[in-house]
Amino acid sequence: MYPRYQGRAISIGKLERFVADWSRENGFVPAKPEKTNGIKVAVIGSGPAGLTCAGDLAKMGYEVTIFEALHEPGGVLTYGIPEFRLPKGGVVRPEIDNVRKLGVKIETNVIIGKSVTIDELMDAEGFKAVFIGSGAGLPKFMGIPGENANGVFSANEYLTRSNLMKAFRDDYDTPIFMGKKVAVVGGGNVAMDAARTALRLGAEVHIVYRRSEAELPARVEEVHHAKEEGIIFNLLTNPVEILTDDKDWVTGMIVRKMELGEPDASGRRRPVEVPGSDYTIDVDTVIMSLGTSPNPLISSTTEGLETNKWKCIVADESNGKTTKEGVYAGGDAVTGAATVILAMEAGRAGARGIDEFLQGNK
Ligand SMILES: Cc1cc2nc3c(=O)[nH]c(=O)nc-3n(C[C@H](O)[C@H](O)[C@H](O)COP(=O)(O)OP(=O)(O)OC[C@H]3O[C@@H](n4cnc5c(N)ncnc54)[C@H](O)[C@@H]3O)c2cc1C
Repeated sequence: MYPRYQGRAISIGKLERFVADWSRENGFVPAKPEKTNGIKVAVIGSGPAGLTCAGDLAKMGYEVTIFEALHEPGGVLTYGIPEFRLPKGGVVRPEIDNVRKLGVKIETNVIIGKSVTIDELMDAEGFKAVFIGSGAGLPKFMGIPGENANGVFSANEYLTRSNLMKAFRDDYDTPIFMGKKVAVVGGGNVAMDAARTALRLGAEVHIVYRRSEAELPARVEEVHHAKEEGIIFNLLTNPVEILTDDKDWVTGMIVRKMELGEPDASGRRRPVEVPGSDYTIDVDTVIMSLGTSPNPLISSTTEGLETNKWKCIVADESNGKTTKEGVYAGGDAVTGAATVILAMEAGRAGARGIDEFLQGNK
């Protein structure tokens, strides 16, 4: 270690991005094997976990098909992270094309658990192993009155409408409500992305977060960018009720002031309500960004696939092995919402695990 860097922070995210950009720009495209081994493997989900697993398996000679529920591959890289942070044409699509070049087939608009089940893929369609990389896309809500009103979105839905369905453009069919005053509830990275997206769609944007700035879960640089762009932070503030007009459109939100008490199980100081402190903020759009969990569709339709109390698929971190023979899993579907690089690592481990299983040395 160079002494001048000792003890100083490293920008891991930027280093990860540099390595990926450099390898792409310098033509590091892995070659497709001359012939396949004829063994079919299914990968569910085309996010970083699924793409990495599929690419690695294809390099080993397997015939890999990715099944993706949405009409565009890429997972959160395509539908979640906004274009201004992750360019789709310059970064995401070339990576997906590289996986295709390895011979991987990508079938979009196929919802595993609805269109076809894992058991059917294995019993009737000849897939010898399956990797589940279906992410953690099920949003959480607060359960407060008015949450079903028009103009209330989960951050996932809001970002998907904007990123994937280009809802802000007249030539696309999916509508998005261009709010004038938007409240984003939550203080994580996803909340910052939703807030900055709403800002770009022309709104005045408020982050509403029940703890103080010190407890904001978003990365410091994300908070910095949000502030720099003019997002207003309503800290120590918690929504109580969403108000609507007679057509059920959002007109405002009653919020309650909070103060910090003793630390809770997470080690952060617990927010405590200040009695009699309710007041109303005028908003026409509310975006709930309170975290996500894995959708139980796949686990509930697959015999013998165990999940934990957070609905995450139980899998061995070292090789992705689940409780069902021949089925492997990794990424957010196993860990809950995490990071791109961890999902890629899990995809790689899953490919190794599947290869060991199919070569008979599990
Ligand atoms: C807004 C936002 C910003 C983020 N920013 C960052 C960041 O800056 N840096 C970072 O490292 N991480 C970030 N993350 C987290 C990161 O994107 C995820 O951890 C990562 O994408 C997880 O990868 P994955 O492959 O497990 O799942 P995903 O990327 O979620 O992909 C899962 C795919 O599976 C598909 N799928 C789901 N169910 C089915 C089904 N039944 N049948 C077929 N297909 C299915 C989904 O449509 C999706 O395409 C962010 C997340 C969000 C939401």
